[in-house]
Amino acid sequence: MLNTEQRVPIDEERIEATLAHGVRKDAACVREVLAKAREMKGLKAEEVAVLMAVSDPDLLGEVFNTARYVKEEIYGRRLVLFAPLYVSNLCSNECLYCAFRKTNKEVKRRALTQEEVARETRIIIDQGHKRVLLVAGESYPVEGFPYILRCIETIYNTKHDRGEIRRLNVNIAPLTVDEFKELKAAHIGTYQLFQETYHRESYARVHLEGQKADFDWRITAPDRAMQAGIDDVGVGILFGLFDWRFEVLALMQHIDHLEKAFGVGPHTISVPRLEPAIGSSIACQPPHPVSDIDFRKLVAILRLAVPYTGIIMSTRETPNIRRETFALGVSQISAGSRTNPGGYAEDEKYDGSQFSLGDHRSLDEVIRDVAELDYIPSFCTACYRLGRTGQDFMDLAKPGKIKDHCGVNALSTFVEYLEDYGSPETKAIGEVCIQKTLESFTEQRRFVAEVLMDRVREGERDVFV
Ligand code: SAM
Ligand code: SF4
Repeated sequence: MLNTEQRVPIDEERIEATLAHGVRKDAACVREVLAKAREMKGLKAEEVAVLMAVSDPDLLGEVFNTARYVKEEIYGRRLVLFAPLYVSNLCSNECLYCAFRKTNKEVKRRALTQEEVARETRIIIDQGHKRVLLVAGESYPVEGFPYILRCIETIYNTKHDRGEIRRLNVNIAPLTVDEFKELKAAHIGTYQLFQETYHRESYARVHLEGQKADFDWRITAPDRAMQAGIDDVGVGILFGLFDWRFEVLALMQHIDHLEKAFGVGPHTISVPRLEPAIGSSIACQPPHPVSDIDFRKLVAILRLAVPYTGIIMSTRETPNIRRETFALGVSQISAGSRTNPGGYAEDEKYDGSQFSLGDHRSLDEVIRDVAELDYIPSFCTACYRLGRTGQDFMDLAKPGKIKDHCGVNALSTFVEYLEDYGSPETKAIGEVCIQKTLESFTEQRRFVAEVLMDRVREGERDVFV
């Protein structure tokens, strides 16, 4: 096992050389890579570079079709839903792209009290959510890091009517191994942290002050989390800070490092693009903007490169981009989100948001849309609660066995949503989606799904296999 002082190797020269190698490849070579991608064993950096250089529309269409195939084979048609819960926008860092940066006077500072955390949680529960992503700036009220532990306890302890939060993921600043152990003991699901950019020079240019200015402290955080026993770690890139092609190859190196050191790579990859933020000029004019077509391409390539890692898309993106990327590889989405502390209870009245949203629809509207596209909205939290995390999860996922659990659990949690929270329109569309999904199942899976759904319709809750 690796020690915390060791640096995570990101070899910039090798990345540049690999990118140059990809450019000169012909259609036959691209098709060879796509044929390998269909085997769903992942791709090497050189192969990823070949796909990233594709610009011919017909060939690009083949890349997209292959991504659709792999997504469908591994994940079926389910999409997992979650809501972010911002507990605090206090921050001691100076990330030039973020409204929460220390010197930004245009944002009102606030850390929610535990009563306010419970109030926000109740509203999220009443929307129908079962998964929350706790988010905070990198500075806590006087009590320090234990504030986060108290928020976690409050969220898990909050019950409302028939609902509760069953999986809590966190996106907070890097911790020490001992602090990560406390986070694990608080029963978090995934610890999520975005490197923002893997390009050191660009990183230094946008992170001016505070602990976050230390590139190495941040890039080694997933190692410390795994050393502390947190199996599910999420990584991500803030696209727009540097060339997306470089970022994707650097991410591959980071994943490779985690696989070698811990036997398992990240559980999820998040793909935020820079969005306008109050008091940030760089967020409004990204130095390396990623076009919509390149964004779709990078999601598709990630799906092929690391087929078993979930890809998360937030409400930063518009409904159209979200719809298009579901098919290409996205497996988890947020919905009905607010990005300011207290934003669920106080709606638009409080101007403490982190960045602007591209999708303002309610959870019910998103679910209706997802179901109309024949995707099954899933609130399943079974894996984490049955200990199917880290290596155990991958052992089930890689031979394709996880799909048997996910499909039926997605249906039972979807029925739970429709029974308890669905509007009449969403219920009608949801029932059609459920019937179509059942028709696509084998006889045995259909039987299991029907048993689970009947139990939910008869009043049982939290039913899964
Ligand atoms: N403060 C912690 C940190 O920086 O890791 C965790 C919370 S921070 C609010 C979560 C993420 O928001 C950051 O990692 C960054 O990628 C993203 N973010 C910040 N400003 C953004 C912007 N203008 N547009 C899109 N995402 C942004
Ligand atoms: Fe603070 Fe995180 Fe925003 Fe940076 S991205 S200013 S660390 S909240």
